[in-house]
Parts: sequence; C-alpha cells; structure tokens
Amino acid sequence: MACVGLLALQGGFAPHALALREIGLPTREVREARDLDAIDGLVLPGGESTAQLRLIERHQIAEALESFVASGRPVLATCAGLVLAARQVKPVQKSFGWLDLDVERNAYGRQLDSFEDLADGDDLPLVFIRAPRISAVGKGVAVLARWRGEPVLVRAGAVTGAAFHPELTQDRRVHQLAFAGL
Ligand code: GLN
Repeated sequence: MACVGLLALQGGFAPHALALREIGLPTREVREARDLDAIDGLVLPGGESTAQLRLIERHQIAEALESFVASGRPVLATCAGLVLAARQVKPVQKSFGWLDLDVERNAYGRQLDSFEDLADGDDLPLVFIRAPRISAVGKGVAVLARWRGEPVLVRAGAVTGAAFHPELTQDRRVHQLAFAGL
C-alpha cells in the first residue's frame, strides 16, 4: 500500500498524519535521507522555515529531497513547507524552487498571527498562521484557490502548495487532491 512521508524535522507534521489516515493513506516520519526510499508521497509541513532549513542541512537530507521531488512523486507543501518549495523568498533565504513562485514570509501574520476564513467563492476553509503570501506565480503554476484575490493553493506537476493549513480543518480536499494518484 502507498505510504506518505512527513518531513518530521520540525513543525506541524502530526496533524497531517491524522488527515492522511482519514483518507486511507498511511504515513511515515522522514528524518534522514534513507527514509525517503520507502515512501510514495511527501508532506512538507508548516513550522519555521528557517529552523527547517538548518535541520535539513544538519541531517544532510537536501540532496535526497531534491531527487525525491525530481522523481515526480506527489508532494504537499504547506506554509513553511511552501516557503521551502518556493523559487524566491522575501526576506531573502535559501529555498528549493520546486514551485515557480515567489513568497513573502509572515505576510498575513503582521497584525494578527492566525485567522480563519473561506477561499474566494468557495467553501474551502483556510487557516492561516503567520502565513506566507504568494506574491508571484510562474506560467506553469495553476492557481486552485484564492483568498481576497491572491493565490493560496497552487499546483505545478506533482507539487501542491498551500499558504494555509489544510491539516487543521476537517476538510480533506487538499490532501485528497495532492495525493490523488496514490
Ligand atoms: N512564518 C513561517 C515561516 O516562514 C511559516 C508559518 C507556518 O508554517 N505556520 O517559516
């Protein structure tokens, strides 16, 4: 049976395990490069992208992550995970460029650290926690949901990115969509 890995170096990976179990997908925590061999999909969870970057370096897992994504297996990057997956980040920090888009860190979190709303013209619930704002998307990136006109859910190839936290709601559509092939 297909198994989804959760990058478990830092941040909110545990609720993703519950969400995926609800849609019938077992999960496994990923902390070292070899953990990626045994999985068919991957979640890059929310948390602090700067801390996650340091841990990716310390655990020497960057190269294995790069080849996992290049293999075309499905990836769901949420919040800090989206910051890691972006092509460009403001303020400037390292990122992997798996999604051709620019983000501004903590852009929705300045006045209010966390809030909930619905996507534009949809009943998709959105939970934002010091969320990154997607400030530009490349041509190959499909925008699947917006909030106040700005992209918050995107997809390019097998990589789905969310500025919000789908794992913290009861709505499983984002996980279903991201891992539909498994
Ligand atoms: N502000 C965080 C970052 O840029 C992301 C916040 C989150 O994942 N909830 O790393």
